[in-house]
Amino acid sequence: MLLEIKGLCKEYKRREKTFSVVDNVDLSIGQGDFVSVIGRSGSGKSTLLNMIAGLLEPTSGNIKLDDRDIYTLKDRKKSEIRNSRLGYIPQGFGVLYNLTVFDNVRLPFYLSKRQGDAAGRASFLLDEVGLSPLAEMMPSQLSGGELRRVLIARALMNEPEILIADEPTSDLDIETTKIIMDLFARINQNGTTILIVTHELDTLEFGNRVLTMESGRLTEHAQSNAAEKPYI
Ligand code: ADP
Ligand code: MG
Repeated sequence: MLLEIKGLCKEYKRREKTFSVVDNVDLSIGQGDFVSVIGRSGSGKSTLLNMIAGLLEPTSGNIKLDDRDIYTLKDRKKSEIRNSRLGYIPQGFGVLYNLTVFDNVRLPFYLSKRQGDAAGRASFLLDEVGLSPLAEMMPSQLSGGELRRVLIARALMNEPEILIADEPTSDLDIETTKIIMDLFARINQNGTTILIVTHELDTLEFGNRVLTMESGRLTEHAQSNAAEKPYI
């Protein structure tokens, strides 16, 4: 298994009372999977993704990437893995507004000690997401759908094995949602494993597995595969 999650919990305290936001989650993700997690707002989806992305320490349980528990690694090693093997697209429009589109895309390259042609890869990715003509624009000149595509290109900069996206199509119209989801499907066909969180049911036709998060608990739909759409 590429990613193996066992007994994952995240608890918070509110006025002396402890409550579980992520409650004993088990999840195995294989190379090439396209996994969608759906669920209502507040059900714990972002908390789960943040733990998987190496950004938020679990209360208990573990997350193994190729059999290595990421939270037992030293901070430096953990950042290195996060920057090189995982591509993370946070909720919202997390671009840097004082950098051009092109510089936003190539930024992750400079955060790790990588060798290669950063400019060439950034140009290739901008072409992949259909934004080449906008490379020298500033983010404030772009539409919501275009900004999401910048974030996708940026998350792919270091050639991650797993692309993790938190509600990448929220606030987008149906047409733009389709463009973004088609892009994820293409990236997946090229071999990248994908894990996305969404609360939109119209994105479920993409991908081969669908899970639902409800009050911190994660359940997989029995029929989830590409041929049969789950009944919800
Ligand atoms: P979702 O992404 O499904 O909307 P979240 O994972 O963002 O859900 O949040 C799940 C629950 O956890 C919410 O009730 C939220 O208020 C709570 N929560 C999230 N982060 C914290 C925190 N740092 N401290 C306390 N409660 C939190
Ligand atoms: Mg969320």
